[in-house]
Amino acid sequence: LSTRLDWFSESIIRKMTRIANQYDAINLSQGFPDFDPPQELIEALKKTADEGPHQYEITWGSPLFREAVAKKQERFMNIKLNPDENIVVTCGSTEAMMAAMMSVCEAGEKVAIFSPFYENYAADTVLCGAIPIYVPLNPPEFTFNKDELENAFKEGAKALILCNPSNPLGKVFTRDELMFISELVTKYDAFVITDEVYEHIVYEPSKHIYFASLPGMFERTISCSSLSKTYSITGWRLGYVIGPKNVIDNCKKVHDFLTVGAAAPLQKAALAGLAFGDDYYRELTSLYTEKRELFLKGLDSIGLKYHKPEGAYYVMVDISEFGIKTDVEFAKRLAENVGVAAVPGSSFFKDDVNNYVRFHFAKKKETLEKALERLQNIR
Ligand code: GLN
Repeated sequence: LSTRLDWFSESIIRKMTRIANQYDAINLSQGFPDFDPPQELIEALKKTADEGPHQYEITWGSPLFREAVAKKQERFMNIKLNPDENIVVTCGSTEAMMAAMMSVCEAGEKVAIFSPFYENYAADTVLCGAIPIYVPLNPPEFTFNKDELENAFKEGAKALILCNPSNPLGKVFTRDELMFISELVTKYDAFVITDEVYEHIVYEPSKHIYFASLPGMFERTISCSSLSKTYSITGWRLGYVIGPKNVIDNCKKVHDFLTVGAAAPLQKAALAGLAFGDDYYRELTSLYTEKRELFLKGLDSIGLKYHKPEGAYYVMVDISEFGIKTDVEFAKRLAENVGVAAVPGSSFFKDDVNNYVRFHFAKKKETLEKALERLQNIR
C-alpha cells in the first residue's frame, strides 16, 4: 500500500458528523446549513430534471455556467475574465484546490500553509507529492510574523495557500497583510492558491479583498471557490478555479482526468443562483450576521471564551478551563453527554494545540437555540 497516506488521517471533520449521528447530537461540527437553498434553485432543479441535460457537459464546465461565473465574479472581483480561458468548473472547491496545487507544483516542491488551517490543504499537498511548510497564525489576533512567512519562501515555497475568510478562525485578512504577501510572492516568484468559499460571509466592518484583484496579482493567483456556502448547496459539489490562461490550461488537464466534469444538471440549475442581484448577497450577509450574534451571545451567557470571527461561519471556543487532557476527548464527551458535536481544534493545527473546539453556526435559529440550551450543561 502507498505510504503517502500515512502522512494524514481521515477527515476529523467528517468523522465528527458520524459521531454526531451516533449520539443523536446537534451537529455543529461539519460546516453545512440545515436550511434549504433559495426557492429559485429548487425550482430550477425540478425543471432541469424534466428538461435535462442528463449527459456529460463539456469537461471544463458548461459554456452557460462558465459565462455566469465570469459575469458574477467580474462584478465582485473587479477583474475582466474570459470564460473560455480563465475558468474551470470543478466538483466543489475541494477538487479546485487539488487541481490548482497539481497544476503548479512538481513532486518534492514546497507549499506554505498558515496554521491553523482547513485540514484538506495538508492532505492535498501530500497527495500531489509536495511538502507542506507551516506558518503559524499567532493568538490572540492570529496574525502572522512577517519574517516567519518570508522564511517559508526562502525555504522554497512554490505556493502559499490563502483561505480568506478563513476556516477555522474566521480571520479576514487585511489589505496590509495581503499587500505584504503580494510583495513576497513577487520577490520569490511564487503563487497564491486561494480558498475563498466564504467570500460572501463577511461581518461588518471587515471587508473581503480578493487576492487576485491586488495590483499585479492576477498572474500569480489561482482563485478557488464554490457555490456551496453562497447558495447553501454543499451537496451539489459545484466549484471552480479562476486564474491566468497558462495555469487554467494545466487545471483543465488535471480536472479532465480527475473527474471529467461537474454534474451537468446541477450546473444548469445553479444558473438560477448565479443570476441573483446584489440584494441576495446583502441578505446572505445579514442572515449570517444574525446567526453569529445569536450564537456568540449564547456563548457569552454560558461564560465560554472564544475568538470572535470576522467572516465565515465558525467559532473557535477555548476549552482550557475544562482541564480535559485532549480536545478529541472533550469533543467526544460533548457529543455523547451534552448532545452537541464540535470539531476538535487540534485537527486544524500543525502543532499540538489542544485547547479549542470549533463550532459552526450555519444552522436555523431554532437549531442554534436548542444547541445553546444543551450547552448550558457543558460544565
Ligand atoms: N468546509 C466545511 C468544514 O470545514 C465542510 C468540510 C467538508 O466536509 N467538506 O466543516
